[in-house]
Amino acid sequence: MTTDTPYVIAIVGAGPSGIYAAEALSQQSEVPVEIAVIDRLPVPFGLVRYGVAPDHESIRSIRNTLERTLERPEVRFYGDVVVGSDLDIEELRDAVDAVIYAYGAGSDKRLDIPGEDLPGSIAAAELVAWYCGHPDVHPDVDQPARDGQLVAAAIDGLIATATQAVVVGVGNVALDVARVLMKSAPELTETDMPDDVLESQARKAIREVRILGRRGPAYTTFTTKELRELGQLPGVDVLVAANDLELDESSQAVVERSKVASRNMAVLREWADRTPTGAAKRIYLDFWTRPIKLIGGDRVTAVEVERTMINPVGFVVGTGEIRVVPAQLVVRSVGYRGRPLPGLPYDNSTGRVPHAEGRVIRDHGFSADEYVTGWIKRGPTGVIGTNKSDAVETVTSLLADISDGAVVAHGRSGQLDRLLTQRGIHALGMPAWHRIDAAEIERGLKNGRRRTTLAHRSELLAAAQNDDEPNLS
Ligand code: NAP
Repeated sequence: MTTDTPYVIAIVGAGPSGIYAAEALSQQSEVPVEIAVIDRLPVPFGLVRYGVAPDHESIRSIRNTLERTLERPEVRFYGDVVVGSDLDIEELRDAVDAVIYAYGAGSDKRLDIPGEDLPGSIAAAELVAWYCGHPDVHPDVDQPARDGQLVAAAIDGLIATATQAVVVGVGNVALDVARVLMKSAPELTETDMPDDVLESQARKAIREVRILGRRGPAYTTFTTKELRELGQLPGVDVLVAANDLELDESSQAVVERSKVASRNMAVLREWADRTPTGAAKRIYLDFWTRPIKLIGGDRVTAVEVERTMINPVGFVVGTGEIRVVPAQLVVRSVGYRGRPLPGLPYDNSTGRVPHAEGRVIRDHGFSADEYVTGWIKRGPTGVIGTNKSDAVETVTSLLADISDGAVVAHGRSGQLDRLLTQRGIHALGMPAWHRIDAAEIERGLKNGRRRTTLAHRSELLAAAQNDDEPNLS
């Protein structure tokens, strides 16, 4: 092959990590590339669309930058194509020169405590997917729920009947969940939440959210801007016990080392000093508290919690001091976890694909043509921008392997399209996305909103449809 032969690279996952990998590949000029960004959903943007809270409009606007990458001439978006069922990874590898897996961490970590599966106990991932309008949580009538996924109607019923919620975990997702649970429907009208989710917000009965941290305030993973935002909610008192903010020696060392921890402590101290206004809604931040059992019959009614401490060797242990906190909704917000993809190596202990600097490790050696980036590479940590440097590392490894001759251009341009055509699979490209985008804006404007997310797969596919134009650009 001549050096003009493009390297055909497939990226599995059109979330920020996959699109940043496409950006890094398309911005280099060492080798010609053709990049296929594949997603199982009809629309791109992954967690920017389905994870970033709807009221965080400035973070959600990262979508515009990601969209520009997908519009580049050497990049094509293939939506509604499921790697692992529409085509397996061996077939994909045969159709392109290299694959970058960027499919994120699609499941949630569990608490492993009695009562965890009672109705009313849900994963933050489910609640977030619901209020962002993810099709898995908003299935069509004839569509089976995915992997026992809780669906919109059930979540709607829970938040309409719960007055007290417990959120387990002290990370940014816990803050998003607590904030959205506390905001009223009018406060959320400006967002692009689906219409029926917004209607549920108006029926919401929640008056109290209790956030549980199993360690002390020095050990939260909050970012300060997001923490501060919680204290600015109108009509909501945020309550922190002053004695929880006293720092033992190890907490003190954490606060001295970390600027974020120190700023977070300052915010928490300010709240502990505030006199509650007597507002109708309250958020409690309970540190040194872990759930040990969810109580209830056909629905969770309370959480048994235990006071904790850190023992001399640094482990969180219970003190035996137990109390019962009433709650009709329990949201576990204790982190996400990667899922295995059939045929791809997966480390069950970490929930990640084994790799070195983004090169996938197979059978104790490097795979010849497989790379990984984003949460499925490094675990579910960092903000959206963290995926950019992560993708650059992976793409640097791929380009070095191209330069060494380890990854070869086989002249496979067009092969993926031929494979999909043979299978009768109609991928949705950027023209289809633009039609969906326009339909969401139109739907929003009809109700005096900026835009409204179309949550059902059938709605997305109907909006994408245009027989006169090709779907793939
Ligand atoms: P996270 O930051 O890892 O927080 C998970 C929390 O769960 C930690 O407080 C952890 O406590 C706790 N936890 C874990 N296992 C537990 C258990 N068995 N019992 C009780 N508590 C437990 O995860 P996340 O909140 O899901 O966020 C994921 C990533 O997305 C983070 O990097 C986050 O910053 C990012 N994100 C960013 C934004 C934003 O920038 N606005 C918004 C949302 C998410 P320990 O520390 O004790 O393990």
